[in-house]
Amino acid sequence: MADKISVLYSEEEITARIKELGAQISKDYEGKELHIVGILKGATFFACELAKRITVPVTLDFMSVSSYGDSTESSGVVKINKDLDEPLEGREVLVVEDIVDTGNTLSYLLDNLQKRRASSVRLCALLDKPERREKDVHVDYTGFEIPDKFVVGYGLDYAQKYRNLPYIGVVETE
Ligand code: 5GP
Repeated sequence: MADKISVLYSEEEITARIKELGAQISKDYEGKELHIVGILKGATFFACELAKRITVPVTLDFMSVSSYGDSTESSGVVKINKDLDEPLEGREVLVVEDIVDTGNTLSYLLDNLQKRRASSVRLCALLDKPERREKDVHVDYTGFEIPDKFVVGYGLDYAQKYRNLPYIGVVETE
């Protein structure tokens, strides 16, 4: 049976917010070059749309990580499935993630990336669920703060499905 999904943010709302984020980031990095590190697979759609709205020179790299242990609860023990292609040394790095939930994954990841001697490492997340936070992760740029609901679309999946939805929706469970 098909899952029922109710729209939380429409494609138009997401596009408008990404334009605002792109303008803010372009202003903050004026005169510099920005190296975007997108986290696979969830952040791919967001990272690409955001990159198109940034007016300073941009380079892109991607990394894939997964959390060990239970598939529904993030453990904080993170496995790197695919590392970056390029070194970060001396670069202005913007990590682009789909969603910050407990913060366990990003806390590990930011720690790992900070050791690679970048000039700066900042974080941009499309969605933030502050209620669920376990680790103190600072999000420099946030698309939308959302309540504690399981969301899909715009890169986010439910059992690998729904990543291609052009909107962000909540899966209604019976
Ligand atoms: P954290 O370590 O912050 O708890 O987990 C972050 C990861 O959990 C995200 O990158 C994402 O893959 C997954 N996640 C957390 N909340 C949601 C959600 O509401 N929907 C989906 N599809 N994935 C989520």
